[in-house]
Amino acid sequence: MSMQNPVFIPGPTNIPDSVRKACDMGTLDHRSPAFARLFKPAVEGVRRVLKMDEGEVILIPSTGTGGWEAAVTNTLSPGDTVLAARFGMFSHRWIDLCQRHKLDVEIIETPWGEGAPLAAIEKALRADKGHHIKAVLATHNETATGVKSDIAGIRAAMDAAGHPAMLFVDGVSSIASMPFDFAGWGVDIAVAGSQKGFMLPAGLAILGVSPKAIAAMETARLPRTFFDFKDMLASYAKGGYPYTPAVGLIAGLAHAIDLLESEGLDNVYARHHRLAEGVRRAVFAWGMAPFAASPDLYSDTVTAVKVPPGCDGTALVQLAASKYGMAFGVGLGEVAGKVFRIGHLGMLTEAMVLSGLAVAEMCMADLGWPVTLGSGVAAAQEYYRGTIEAVALAAE
Ligand SMILES: *Cc1c(COP(=O)(O)O)cnc(C)c1O
Repeated sequence: MSMQNPVFIPGPTNIPDSVRKACDMGTLDHRSPAFARLFKPAVEGVRRVLKMDEGEVILIPSTGTGGWEAAVTNTLSPGDTVLAARFGMFSHRWIDLCQRHKLDVEIIETPWGEGAPLAAIEKALRADKGHHIKAVLATHNETATGVKSDIAGIRAAMDAAGHPAMLFVDGVSSIASMPFDFAGWGVDIAVAGSQKGFMLPAGLAILGVSPKAIAAMETARLPRTFFDFKDMLASYAKGGYPYTPAVGLIAGLAHAIDLLESEGLDNVYARHHRLAEGVRRAVFAWGMAPFAASPDLYSDTVTAVKVPPGCDGTALVQLAASKYGMAFGVGLGEVAGKVFRIGHLGMLTEAMVLSGLAVAEMCMADLGWPVTLGSGVAAAQEYYRGTIEAVALAAE
């Protein structure tokens, strides 16, 4: 028997069959009008998902990390200062990338489990009278800790300080699953990847870039070739690419956005909230708690579950994989072993989530953790029963 359980890692996510089929296409000449016809709906779709009113969408054959590198190298020069809070593995890795590019990163150390510290960001910007800070980096959804940050609040802090820095947002594990408002939040660069909320295989960095960030390219001196937005935009204008694009993924992206929009983006966000809330009810029923410091920080795409004293989150993840064929996320960095993570984003239903919770409980029982089988599942069932929307059955 070939077994395929849903995955509960926070990316890559489960891929809908129709998205897989949309990616599976014969070779297409990327300099032909046929490519331009395929490319345009993907770009326009991303523009709607990000809620952009101006600026450009850039699709690079890469991953989210490449999107970070593109954001930084296109807009900044060696020695420029950027401001970033560090509160998890992903915010840390973005800081590390900037440092390797010889940027001067002003780091606001923030306890893991917290979100972006708005007051400290405003204070740092107010203190920067000479406007040396060129960009504020924000991790919208810290995938390591299951914490979402208030990007509108960061924009408000920047405005309150009257600071002209650009705002770069890592939305890799939030975009297309949680509300995002590029125009409303005054975002200058948003970074996403294909393999999370967009439900595709890995391989595309998806960026929204504001006119202000595009203007910054004129003076930015960090070296860039593969990631150069200027080459990309010049080729786009002619309906093409400066190199070979990931044609299948771009076709899949347009289709995935069709799926998201046929569900309705607001419904997609509501579904993610409902799925996440069911997971949280289960976690509390187990006598555990999310790692996020307070309910306003709870992520709707990933929950890092704090494990009881003496228990090892990584052992649960290993057992789930080896015995039950199901993937959960391990704790990363300073929370290794102290949490395990349940990803609940992308193509996922209540019924699928219940299967994940049931397997997590079996692992806990196997490992001798103090948990009653069925307790978390029952809590999620009660919540889903009361809140689930009737699904429209697929047309015959
Ligand atoms: C997954 C993830 C990344 C890294 O993306 P890759 O596609 O693996 O390069 C960056 N930031 C966040 C918040 C993520 O969840």
